Amino acid sequence: MKILVPVKRVIDYNVKVRVKPDQSGVELANVKMAMNPFDEIAVEQALRIKEAGRADEIVLVSVGPSQSQETIRTGLAMGADRGIHIEADQDIEPLAVAKLLKAVVKKEGPGLVICGKQAIDDDSNQTGQMLSALLGWAQATFASSVELGSEKAKIIREVDGGLEHIEVVLPAVITVDLRLNEPRYASLPNIMKAKKKPIDSLSADELGVDTTPRLKVVKVEEPAARSAGIKVGSVAELVDKLKNEAKVI
Ligand code: AMP
Repeated sequence: MKILVPVKRVIDYNVKVRVKPDQSGVELANVKMAMNPFDEIAVEQALRIKEAGRADEIVLVSVGPSQSQETIRTGLAMGADRGIHIEADQDIEPLAVAKLLKAVVKKEGPGLVICGKQAIDDDSNQTGQMLSALLGWAQATFASSVELGSEKAKIIREVDGGLEHIEVVLPAVITVDLRLNEPRYASLPNIMKAKKKPIDSLSADELGVDTTPRLKVVKVEEPAARSAGIKVGSVAELVDKLKNEAKVI
């Protein structure tokens, strides 16, 4: 079985995101970029499935500017087999990504797609769900455990206030949550090996997908700054302030 893992290039999660002065978006110039953290978890899961002898090839797909190839290389250095880069310079929306991924699924014929549950830049949490709908495949979102059978997969989902155990028929789209696994670091020999692994380039036109945006970002704002706290001298003063200043009791 082949596993397809979509990996997105996003601002590194350690970077403090700054809004552009004209509020048209966030600053990307000279900002450290990295693989979306949930996608690292998806790659790790695919590797574990392959290492358990349940898959024979892991193909990474990234939609984005040419630097997305670096993101693919990161996943190849973790152990994935090959990559597909779909060039897209403009901001690309989840529906367009899902349509492109659908076209790649038709071309490659994987038995499983493992995505991140969300990209930490747009926080959309839509692509995996849209892809499964477009393909007519089962979906298992927010997975914190994946147990693969021959025709079905048992998934534990992280839902509000607990865990949900489900079974999905394969082929399926799985989106992974934070607690599923801890992604490995790439070793130096694997980083070297990854340089030789193939990355194919495709365009949205070749795949017959219109990626014209359907949404317009009107304005991006920084969160409101919090005012400084104060120290109170006694419990009586605290109660007085809560009652008469904050008016919360
Ligand atoms: P989102 O729906 O944007 O929150 O993204 C959910 C998941 O879809 C990500 O964790 C990736 O696995 C995949 N994905 C979204 N955008 C892209 C992209 N441009 N290239 C590759 N994969 C993507």
